[in-house]
Amino acid sequence: MTKPTTTLISGGTVVLGQTVSRQDLLIQGERIAALGDLSGCKADVKVDAEGLLVLPGAIDPHVHFNDVFMNTISVHDYYTGTLAAAYGGVTSIIDFSNQGPGESLMDTLRHKREEEDGQALVDWGVHPVITQPTPETLAEIRLMVEAGAPSLKCYMTYRDEGLMVELEDLRRISERLRDAGGMLLMHAEDNQILEEKIPALIRSGFTAPIYHARSRPLESENKAIRDCIQVARETGVRLFIVHMASADGAELVGAARAEGLDVIAETCTHYLLFTDQMMERKDGIKWICSPPLRDQPNQDRLWAALRDGRISMVTSDDAAYLWEAKLYGADRFDKVPNGIPGIEPRLNLLYSEGVAKGRLSLPRFVEVISSTPALLFGLAPQKGSLAPGADADIVLFDPHTKWTMNQNTLHMATDYSAYEDIEITGKIKSVYSRGELIIEGERCLAEKGRGRYLHRQLDLSMRASI
Ligand SMILES: [Zn+2]
Repeated sequence: MTKPTTTLISGGTVVLGQTVSRQDLLIQGERIAALGDLSGCKADVKVDAEGLLVLPGAIDPHVHFNDVFMNTISVHDYYTGTLAAAYGGVTSIIDFSNQGPGESLMDTLRHKREEEDGQALVDWGVHPVITQPTPETLAEIRLMVEAGAPSLKCYMTYRDEGLMVELEDLRRISERLRDAGGMLLMHAEDNQILEEKIPALIRSGFTAPIYHARSRPLESENKAIRDCIQVARETGVRLFIVHMASADGAELVGAARAEGLDVIAETCTHYLLFTDQMMERKDGIKWICSPPLRDQPNQDRLWAALRDGRISMVTSDDAAYLWEAKLYGADRFDKVPNGIPGIEPRLNLLYSEGVAKGRLSLPRFVEVISSTPALLFGLAPQKGSLAPGADADIVLFDPHTKWTMNQNTLHMATDYSAYEDIEITGKIKSVYSRGELIIEGERCLAEKGRGRYLHRQLDLSMRASI
């Protein structure tokens, strides 16, 4: 057997838990072998990280690859999506797999394995999405937990898309998840409010992009969050609210946690970067996503909730469609495929807007993009930390370089970007995945198919630590 390659990264500023300190880091094979003053240490490869931050690889537990939705399909597949992820310092992703008509949950997992088949550049996992809560589906929930996919998602809206689950069924799903040691992920928007607002606006001729936001008001999100917290209260399931855009939602989550409920929420990069003003632009369809972008005071409150922990992490909700598909709704906001391509820019944007602007500490930044997703989604201690023994998923980051982000500087498979001409502080220099250098500057060195399936197991005891 050949000896594993050793790489010594010396002189960098390492973020480990709440500690930020100058440390050398030794990689042996796929793992981190040691941290400390390793100046006397021999290694096959030596990397000078003087002046650089050494961060754990980012984890994006909210992406949609090959997602068939609103008459189109997302352009990120397991190759293009994980390529963009790698450039963005993301070394693990978790994708959603919708249960199709007549399909079992096992089928949804199998489809993702088929889609991946030798394509992924980084490690990947799956959240199955329950769309048909039949007795057969309910009986499969335990199998999903055993198959390493213990976090299952449901939608409270998109009835026409065949995704919506009724509240009564949510209770049944929650009970099964609770008993199996799983977690319920919820898209929280109240369908009844949306089904009243959207046609009313269209009938009155209000079809411009901004009416997307008006048709999905805060109250629809807040009501749905209250409803699913009530389900968590009744059933005791661990509840995770995905892509929370409403700052009132953070208050509701904070109150639920104070009550002792196991309720957690994420927000997404775009809610922290953009406001609903973007949808007033001529090309406003670029920023149509659901829940919609909200106003500036709401955004300020989201940042505050992210700092104080009522929001636990930031994900991308990457849903990358071609411009041609976005144009389906050029004259009708309700025809625009909902979603923003975002798998690549998240780490850069959050460092620049969060850390460089003094809104997030460096340890909190690492928590929200890596450590907390690892802890919550069953990837720790293997992922999300630079502690010895963990996978050597590492980003070397230059905190000082200034550059401008736009479509030309990104590697996503879409032909437009919502992140246009954004001044950025800090740049990813290189990325390691399980000890292998996969990104070096502008070059990707990863081979297709090197990404591994993440067989996840939740630790439901760690609510207090997040
Ligand atoms: Zn999503």
